[in-house]
Amino acid sequence: MKINILGGGPASLYFAILMMKRDPAHVITVFERDGPEDTFGWGIVFSGRTFQFLEENDALSHARIVACSQTWEDVIIGHPLETIAIGGNLFSGIARLTFLNILQQRCLELGVDLRYHANIGAEQLPALRECDLFVGADGSNSMFRKYYEDLFLPTIDLRQNKFVWLGTPQSFDGLAMYFRENAAGVFIAHAYRFVAADKPLNGACSTFVVECAPETWLRAGLDKMGEADTCAYLAGVFAEPLQGHALLANKFLRWLNFPIVKNKRWHHGNLVLLGDALHTAHFSIGSGTKLALEDAAALADAFSGQRSVPAALSEFERKRKRWVDEFQDAALRSPYLAGKCWW
Ligand SMILES: Cc1cc2nc3c(=O)[nH]c(=O)nc-3n(C[C@H](O)[C@H](O)[C@H](O)COP(=O)(O)OP(=O)(O)OC[C@H]3O[C@@H](n4cnc5c(N)ncnc54)[C@H](O)[C@@H]3O)c2cc1C
Repeated sequence: MKINILGGGPASLYFAILMMKRDPAHVITVFERDGPEDTFGWGIVFSGRTFQFLEENDALSHARIVACSQTWEDVIIGHPLETIAIGGNLFSGIARLTFLNILQQRCLELGVDLRYHANIGAEQLPALRECDLFVGADGSNSMFRKYYEDLFLPTIDLRQNKFVWLGTPQSFDGLAMYFRENAAGVFIAHAYRFVAADKPLNGACSTFVVECAPETWLRAGLDKMGEADTCAYLAGVFAEPLQGHALLANKFLRWLNFPIVKNKRWHHGNLVLLGDALHTAHFSIGSGTKLALEDAAALADAFSGQRSVPAALSEFERKRKRWVDEFQDAALRSPYLAGKCWW
């Protein structure tokens, strides 16, 4: 099969790996607008069960991922008056860049054609569609989905809370959530450790996502603050759990509103959506990458048994949709998404 994939994130790379493992005669081209070292983000977190899933699907990349991961067993809930650690929850964290580099390397070993700095415009999509399968794996803000919106019928629910993805040299002992309040309102931090391989952090450190209501954000003046002031302000709010460590922005600081993406239809003809382009799950349940990887495996599985492309795509949606819907519902019930103070 000749397969073109838009986007070079986890969904795309893992799908390319699994398809090449099934049949090395496939011709797979991945078009990624950035370079191999340019990713935005800090660390990502996986459960023990996700690691098992990775091992079952590709033992080689799994072994490399495990070798670069930090593992812990506690979930920590930090209220101003009390911090509670809940044991028995196996999680691992890895730098997003390290993780992507492992998948990229595996793709190259298997003969996938990775084209970096290929920022594809909408006008190029019809030509790229001239293949057996054209996969839209270009993330939550997908241009592919927008271009073919009459076919996929997407809905995008932009949640009201503001969040920012930061890093810190502080190394937390578990998957941690901290709640703090000041005159502006309530702030929530979601933190987990990983090993950074490059600047601005090196060695053991943590991802630190901060979320607050829009009124809190405005009252704190965060809409007008630059990068350094924002990091200093939030480091002050979370001074106690950070134990004096700084907060840092990666590349540039961006406050975002989380988009809940759904699509009424998942495929049409030789077109299919994958990963965040297809669906998002709020970061408070830490499962966006897991869902993207599971999508990739389900889509590759759907091609076993010599199914035609339309039959395989229907099978992919049939097997996967109910599971994804349940996950999105669970994420929607996550208190973070209520967009209000809830303690
Ligand atoms: C704050 C935050 C915290 C998160 N924490 C976690 C976590 O702890 N655990 C977890 O599992 N997930 C987490 N996620 C989610 C995770 O980052 C995504 O869900 C995951 O990366 C989805 O993979 P993907 O391949 O579908 O899309 P992406 O990783 O978004 O990849 C899409 C790729 O497409 C490329 N692209 C886009 N447009 C074009 C174009 N026109 N031409 C060429 N290339 C293009 C982009 O450059 C990008 O590389 C978090 C997300 C956020 C925002």
